Amino acid sequence: MDMIETDVAIIGAGPVGLFAAFECGMLRMRCVLIDALDAVGGQCTALYPEKPIYDIPAHPAIEAAELVANLERQIAPFAVPRLLGRRVERLAGGSGALTLGTDRGETIRAKAVILAAGAGAFGPNRPPLVGIEAFEQAGCVQYYVRRREDLRGRRVVIAGGGDSAVDWALALKDIATVSVVHRRAKFRAAPDSAARLAAAAAAGEIALEIPYQLHALHGTDGILRTVEVASLDGATRQLPADVLLAFYGLSMDLGPIAGWGLGMTQQHIGIDPATCETTQPGVFAIGDVATYKGKLKLILQGFSEAAIAAHAIHPIVFPGEALHFEYSTSKGVHAAA
Ligand SMILES: Cc1cc2nc3c(=O)[nH]c(=O)nc-3n(C[C@H](O)[C@H](O)[C@H](O)COP(=O)(O)OP(=O)(O)OC[C@H]3O[C@@H](n4cnc5c(N)ncnc54)[C@H](O)[C@@H]3O)c2cc1C
Repeated sequence: MDMIETDVAIIGAGPVGLFAAFECGMLRMRCVLIDALDAVGGQCTALYPEKPIYDIPAHPAIEAAELVANLERQIAPFAVPRLLGRRVERLAGGSGALTLGTDRGETIRAKAVILAAGAGAFGPNRPPLVGIEAFEQAGCVQYYVRRREDLRGRRVVIAGGGDSAVDWALALKDIATVSVVHRRAKFRAAPDSAARLAAAAAAGEIALEIPYQLHALHGTDGILRTVEVASLDGATRQLPADVLLAFYGLSMDLGPIAGWGLGMTQQHIGIDPATCETTQPGVFAIGDVATYKGKLKLILQGFSEAAIAAHAIHPIVFPGEALHFEYSTSKGVHAAA
């Protein structure tokens, strides 16, 4: 799937991008959702899935993950393709004929683009180790486990002190040789998981390297041989390793979008609130990334912007065709042809 044609390309599958897919679908416009994360939901999924949100209309309280699940149900009739785990790096062309390029080499041709990019593409915090790129490319340094089975029989060093580090140490201990590197004795994981980790370490099933931090990677041509760790007082140790799993959380980066000439100021894109169009015709911005006088960075405001943008895009996708405003109660929900 290297070339994709669609009416509207939505960059960002956070709550606002998801709802934009609904609004576009209601106007019979085909869309594609693209996100750097491996899952939809943006900040709701990555940062606070279990927190209740209290200001979504008609939901006195709803957990962020449930809001995302509901949005997915709402767009299900439109069978919107999702390109997850890829960053959009390039934008070219003009209204009616825009082209996007992803870091996985795909090209997406769209008549309009909706930027629902929040505070930027989510990506892992990478440890600042010399030469790490080569080890990443060879798959010897990873930030997500795609398939547990791939790590069977390997020597795995896990770095980090949060839930991901602890959960993966426990999940891998029966099929791999696992060491956990953390700079302090206390883990920030769920208490029950931290207790299970301590018990596994006491039973000799997992090696805890505490208090150490990653210091260097050693190997040849991206193939890892040892992970060097250092304590705060400078003492170092060499840990034999095939794979380093680094779990230092996620950060957000507007990097590529900032270079698209959209007049970004202080990490936001100025839009015309009547249409949500940016200074570049055919390119619209909604949700946290968009700004104008009176903007509130709330999910509910992003939902409203999604409806405004979809209506403004309709004449680009269907030139010369009048758009008769209709309530959803009148027209129902029908998949685009
Ligand atoms: C702890 C916390 C609590 C909150 N509580 C509330 C609340 O109670 N009520 C409320 O209304 N709001 C709340 N918010 C804010 C709310 O989460 C945001 O307003 C909302 O997530 C914005 O949605 P969005 O879709 O615009 O952007 P995001 O949720 O940030 O999603 C943007 C997506 O775009 C992707 N992306 C960006 N650039 C690229 C690229 N180049 N290529 C591919 N993908 C890209 C990112 O990976 C991301 O997944 C809270 C936020 C936090 C952190």
